[in-house]
Amino acid sequence: LQAVEAAVRHLEDDPTFDAGRGSVLNAAGEVELDAIIMDGSTLDLGAVIAVKHVSNPITLARLVMTESDHAILVAQGAETLAREHGVVLKPNWHLVVDRERERWHARRSGTNPDEGLFRDAPRGTVGAVARDTDRHVAAATSTGGTFYKEPGRVGDSPLVGCGLYADDQVGAVSATGEGEELMKVVISKSVCDLLRRGMHAQEAAEAGIALLSRRLTGRGGLIVLGRRGDIGIAHSTSWLAHAHVVAGEIRTGVEA
Ligand code: ASP
Repeated sequence: LQAVEAAVRHLEDDPTFDAGRGSVLNAAGEVELDAIIMDGSTLDLGAVIAVKHVSNPITLARLVMTESDHAILVAQGAETLAREHGVVLKPNWHLVVDRERERWHARRSGTNPDEGLFRDAPRGTVGAVARDTDRHVAAATSTGGTFYKEPGRVGDSPLVGCGLYADDQVGAVSATGEGEELMKVVISKSVCDLLRRGMHAQEAAEAGIALLSRRLTGRGGLIVLGRRGDIGIAHSTSWLAHAHVVAGEIRTGVEA
């Protein structure tokens, strides 16, 4: 849990990604963030939805899991918990970067600088999966959602089984992509079910992406970790940046 939270915090702090500061803006010109974390040994989870004043929603999601009686808190409810636990609330503009402000103005004035969310320079939802030496697994996912979304729109990311799943008996999965499509196939839990049937993580990741294209038109990306430590990475989005560490060796890649 510490590892996935730390990895996702790092990515939330990097304005390259659609998570934390640097996230895409909603139709009202605000950053609105969703995040979820899951403990594979207990199946405990914590999620926050539509928070607007927190730099690291993944840490707040973990607080929901450990410090509240609930699994999911939205908007002001989540931010009240943040305040109670000493998380500094920031004005929304603190999370907004120039690149996204310009993109929002372009869209508002009738010109979309991108030909769709997934055909642009690197950005995107962030996620992490990990397994420790006791073979416990965990997963975390954090996002600013989709560009120009209606305020209050919720994608797949903070929904358990969609944006992630983690179960020591099978492995851990984190997902990215077109949320309205990913949630139709409960993609992360579906991939975990394939792992349970004995599939290797890579095979399961590819089968998960196929679920999106077979009956649907969605594009997505998955990072998968099997309970034996097998790794799977697959995507139908135009690119997926990823990194993993096994026995101290770091491997990174941006796949197009
Ligand atoms: N899955 C995210 C959402 O729909 C977006 C993304 O992964 O790029 O909110």
